[in-house]
Parts: sequence; structure tokens; C-alpha cells
Amino acid sequence: MNRCVSRATAFLAVALMLSPGLALAIGNAGADGHFERRESFHFTLFQDVDLDESGGLHGSRHFEQEVLRQLEAAYDLLDSLLSLRPGHKIEVYVWDAQIFDRRFAGLFKFPAAGFYGGAIHIRGEERVGGRLVQVLHHELVHAAFDAAAPRFSLPAWMNEGVAEWFEARSVSKRSLSGGERNALANVVRHGALYSLADLSAPSFQGFTPDAAGIAYLQSYAFINFLVETHGEHDLVEFVSAVIRSRSLERGARRAYRQDLGDLERAFRRSLGVHS
Ligand SMILES: [Zn+2]
Repeated sequence: MNRCVSRATAFLAVALMLSPGLALAIGNAGADGHFERRESFHFTLFQDVDLDESGGLHGSRHFEQEVLRQLEAAYDLLDSLLSLRPGHKIEVYVWDAQIFDRRFAGLFKFPAAGFYGGAIHIRGEERVGGRLVQVLHHELVHAAFDAAAPRFSLPAWMNEGVAEWFEARSVSKRSLSGGERNALANVVRHGALYSLADLSAPSFQGFTPDAAGIAYLQSYAFINFLVETHGEHDLVEFVSAVIRSRSLERGARRAYRQDLGDLERAFRRSLGVHS
């Protein structure tokens, strides 16, 4: 099972690869025994947030249309930024928050905002606000990687780093925030920076919440470093070469003309680490 944790939020975004046990745990019954189902061009939405009414601005129909509108916008952004276009419809479950917590509490050590496991599963909110939109963008990256390379297990630093980078871009955030830079500097000061090898398991599932926070931040920081030093075009080339070759090393040499080790050393030097 591939389990990943998102960083620095009250509720963490998680990605899982679907295993038979997880499929059983997810099931398909909503809060009141069924989901509202609604389609858009690239998505099938199942919605079970406990909204008071069906019509009107705060009703379930408007909510569902807004979620699908955000997903289609995310799909277009994913195509334009990373040239990823999942060829089949992606299922998205938006769960009632209480049901989500009850049903999935055993899967995570920490509060989860959503996860990917063959379908996107989101801990619902009653409004389609900024955080929900970011989680949709984040999980879409995992869904797109899974669609492009179904049996290829990406290292978590790439899967999560790109998801975090794309999520940031969805709100026009083009680099690490001051707070994120300070947190990273703090990690460096304590000699607690991970190596890429440390972050290369399919997921961060064995990490404590604090360690996962660092792992997520560092994965995002590494992808951000690649973009800031080599440009977005080379990231697109890297992603597509990795998917094509099923090899991180071949992808790195194709896109950056360097080994992953060279790129990692350059990243560490940019943080003031000279070892
Ligand atoms: Zn993730």
C-alpha cells in the first residue's frame, strides 16, 4: 500500500494505492446509505456531505457543480503545466466529514483531508473553499500518475513533491513561503535533512506526523528547486521521461543531463549543506 501524508495543515492530504483490504474498508455506502452522483467530462463525482438543502446557493446541487467545475479547472491546469491528461474518467468521492473520520480513522495516524486509492476520496466541507480546492488539485496529481503508469511505484519524494508543487501553483504560489523556508533552514540547522533515498519509499506511511511534515516540505522544496534552477519545461520533460522509462535515473539524465545524485547535491548546497 502506498500511503502519503501532506504537510503543515490541520488536516493532512494522503495518497494511498488501492489494496484489496483498503477497497473493503472504503466500501461504497454514504452517510445516508447512498451518494449523489454527478458527471462532468473527466470526472464522476459521488457526494455525501450532509447539506441542509438540495437547491439554492448553499444546496447540494450547487456544491456538486462547483466541485466538478474546480476539478475540470484542475484537469486543464494539469494539462497545461505538466502535460498530464488522464485518459479515463476519474472517480471522486466527497465524504461527509464525520463519516470520513469514522470510516478511515484506522488508516491514518493523523487527521486526513483526503487520499487517493484508485479513486480520489475527500473529507468534505460544506463550502467549496480554498483548502478543499487545493486538496482536489493535490489528489489529482496522484490520480494522473496512477493513470499514466499504473503499476509503477514512484518514490514518495516525486509523487508528493509534484503534488505539493501543483497544489501550490493552483493558488498562484510559485515558491516556498517565508515560513516554509524558515522551517527548512531549521531542519538543516538540526542536521535533520533527509536524503532522497530516505524519501524514496512509495509512501511516507512509516513516518511520524512531524517527520512526515518535514518529508513533505522537503519533497516540495526539491521539486521547487528543480523548477527554479532548470525551468518548468524541464520538469515536464522529467515527469514524462520518468513515466515513459519507468526510471528516475533515466528521467533525470534525459531532462537535466545529470544524475539524480548530482541534482540532490546541488539542492543540498542551495540549502547550505556541503556534504
Ligand atoms: Zn499526496
